[in-house]
Amino acid sequence: MRLVSACLLGINCNWKGKSSLDKKVFEEFEKGGLFPVCPEILGGQSVPRANAEIVEGTGMDVLEGRAKVMDPRGNDVTEQFVRGAQETLRIAKAVGADEAILKARSPSCGCGKTYDGTFSHKLVDGDGVTAALLKKNGIVVKTEDAYQ
Ligand code: SF4
Repeated sequence: MRLVSACLLGINCNWKGKSSLDKKVFEEFEKGGLFPVCPEILGGQSVPRANAEIVEGTGMDVLEGRAKVMDPRGNDVTEQFVRGAQETLRIAKAVGADEAILKARSPSCGCGKTYDGTFSHKLVDGDGVTAALLKKNGIVVKTEDAYQ
């Protein structure tokens, strides 16, 4: 079993209330064995919601208390992002997932690159909070880019 970011399948769960439908990932979904998750909703956030970025760190830094997730108005949403990651891991364990296809560059789902916390579209090396927690627990994380 593999987890997949729900927004990649056309679910309107991102911060704008829209999806990031990816046809190649959807084709994978149609083959079966993909379980959709949206960590930010699992963390108790609404749709739509303010956008957010990891500030001065990576998803792993957030998990270890060295960085925060903030919205552009300076509201701290770290707790919701960490809770979403924990709930996603719980689901991964429950369904026996050993891999996840997650949305690139998201502060939750991003793998390898995320935005730098300045809300200026600049990318930095690092994983989103959920991607970091899944990787830490031995789950292979890829983004939709691996399926293009
Ligand atoms: S990128 Fe992840 S957290 Fe963001 S909307 Fe998609 S599934 Fe939800």
